[in-house]
Amino acid sequence: MARTILVVEDEPTLRETLAEALEAEGYQVVQAGDGRTALARFRATHPDLVLLDLMLPELSGLEVARQIRTESSVPIVMLTARDAEVDKVVGLELGADDYVTKPFSLRELSARIRAVLRRGESLGTPLPPLVELGSVKVDLAGHRVLRDGTEVPVKPKVFELLAFLLRHPGQVVSRDQLLEQVWGYDYPGETRTVDVHVHWLRTAIEQAPNRPSIVQTVRGVGYVLRRPA
Ligand code: CA
Repeated sequence: MARTILVVEDEPTLRETLAEALEAEGYQVVQAGDGRTALARFRATHPDLVLLDLMLPELSGLEVARQIRTESSVPIVMLTARDAEVDKVVGLELGADDYVTKPFSLRELSARIRAVLRRGESLGTPLPPLVELGSVKVDLAGHRVLRDGTEVPVKPKVFELLAFLLRHPGQVVSRDQLLEQVWGYDYPGETRTVDVHVHWLRTAIEQAPNRPSIVQTVRGVGYVLRRPA
């Protein structure tokens, strides 16, 4: 069955372009040109994903996102005009799943949409709020890593990488899979990014980062997380 995407954008030309491009990729598209209509259409159609412009008449994109989040965990991808808005958007309390900054290419946007939809499908094993890895405790709700009771600073992407691996314990994942699932990239390459983040992750959680026992390298394939016995 086709997935439904609610496209919320007040600029008609852009909205139509987005709708056509997404329909060409096999999605069903519902459109809204302002915040109030967006909420009404959201409630009426239960879309699989919401593509949400930040600057909207009637109700702002932030307000729409906030309302939707009180009712649903549907993936939300925000469209923002400036990088400066990004902090607000991907903000913790807002709960947008991803964002693209205008101007964007349709190719990039569609890659983000696919990645967000896939992420929803492949969430893997549900986790308790606190996971123990030997002397390391991972506070998933608080996005913190504690080592022998002391907080270890980790970059947000490193934490996301850890959370992803924790949801797929014992499963060998390739660098490209990690790029796609954690970074939302739809194309191979850039695997150095993964290696660098794995290095930071090991520094944070391993007793001996050069001889890792938790995040292990599978030569020629990728990485696997082994939980200490
Ligand atoms: Ca707008």
